[in-house]
Amino acid sequence: MIRITTLAGKRVAVFGLGASGIATAKALVAGGANVVASDDSAASIKAAAEAGLKTADLKDANWAVFSSLVLAPGVPLTHPTPHWAVRAARLAGVEVIGDLELLLRERRQQPFDVPLIAVTGTNGKSTTTALTAHLLREAGRDTQVGGNIGTAMLSLAEFKPERHYVIECSSYQIDLAPSLDASVGVLLNVTPDHLDRHGTIENYAAVKARLPQGATKAVVGVDDVYCRAIAADLIRAKGAAAVKRISGRAGADCDVGVEGTRIVLRREGGRNIEIADLAGIGSLRGAHNAENACAAAAALLSLPQPLAAPEIARGLESFPGLAHRMEELGRQGRTLFVNDSKATNADSTEKALVSFPGHIYWILGGKPKAGGIASLTQHFGRIAKAYLIGEATEEFAATLDGRVTFERCGTLDAATVAAARDAASANGSEPVVLLSPACASFDQFRNFEVRGDAFRALVAALPGIEMKRGAS
Ligand code: ADP
Repeated sequence: MIRITTLAGKRVAVFGLGASGIATAKALVAGGANVVASDDSAASIKAAAEAGLKTADLKDANWAVFSSLVLAPGVPLTHPTPHWAVRAARLAGVEVIGDLELLLRERRQQPFDVPLIAVTGTNGKSTTTALTAHLLREAGRDTQVGGNIGTAMLSLAEFKPERHYVIECSSYQIDLAPSLDASVGVLLNVTPDHLDRHGTIENYAAVKARLPQGATKAVVGVDDVYCRAIAADLIRAKGAAAVKRISGRAGADCDVGVEGTRIVLRREGGRNIEIADLAGIGSLRGAHNAENACAAAAALLSLPQPLAAPEIARGLESFPGLAHRMEELGRQGRTLFVNDSKATNADSTEKALVSFPGHIYWILGGKPKAGGIASLTQHFGRIAKAYLIGEATEEFAATLDGRVTFERCGTLDAATVAAARDAASANGSEPVVLLSPACASFDQFRNFEVRGDAFRALVAALPGIEMKRGAS
């Protein structure tokens, strides 16, 4: 645990008692703060009390006694309207911050430098965060990873000389961290998302931009207009030496980019230095993962004690990938099985479809999103056959009709068996059975993880399957 001592002796309200809220309250208590934990849900308050925290309903509290309100990132700060606890705190002149701000303040108190890489972006945060941490560990560096991915950030191991931190940050967490000063701030991309919580895309982009702006060194993607503008502003403000522009697109004007399958560091005068070759790394297929790999490499090259290119290249080769994101599960004969259950919309599924040259036996469906799969028609040539499940069946059948052979399977169980059967009798060089649903899972599963786990279990039960290590 990272004990938070900067509010020792102060009264602090912690609102929003999910896993990160409870971890925050405990870290504050351990550091000597007088904490009151609260939530709108009576069940959450009860769970916090059972975890040994002092709890209260703060609706009628005298907010002036608190020095800070520490808010969970899921509680609305500004949009659609500020939560009542935020309004009450502001009325009383109490600062409203989050766990990231507490971590950063504590970090500044340390007598040694704490290398901290913070990662944000609309897409690819978790992959880039996990990859960056993996590369550090493979290079022998003591590394903690958490935040919006996995472990709550204040549950990570305490600060220690030479210990590195890689923290995934959502825009909500950035909003609650006024003094965001990472060693390296990575902004991958900005596309319209979460506008319910940030109002406009401009506001959302401005929130994301604060992460590289506050950092000593910045890494910014240049594959979208918002980030291109942010990168240009950063270079003007910080100088080119403090900013690495990255891209997953061949030929892009950037500092760390791709040439064929290779990641290269571009130098003045056109002399490029190869950092690594992604060819054959199954966990990093596709241009989107090339962008993530470039971002991780650029971040590690930007550290006060940078990693060397061969260390990055070696680490990339052993990256296991993240579950449910184009996760290679195993092979049955020539057929590769890939779990991309995290793809809950057409944009994400597109990333998976373009990562394979063809012979795709595509399992899709669930609870459809607006627009369905109409935007994917240009990639239908890669599909050998489609297997439809869930509520989306008739809508998707209408889009596929006359373009792609398909089968109405109803359930994931039936679809997996049918796709495995057809792929086994295919002539393609490497048939791929791909679960990339382009739909939410709620009609048949609790969430995308449960859906992906179900697929993994179904694949593991196929005759003659060889599961990848760690995927069974
Ligand atoms: P996040 O944590 O931001 O949700 P993930 O790393 O979990 O991102 O990836 C989620 C999905 O987003 C992936 O399955 C893929 O479809 C897509 N994706 C991953 N990286 C990128 C990227 N750099 N650009 C665009 N889309 C991406």
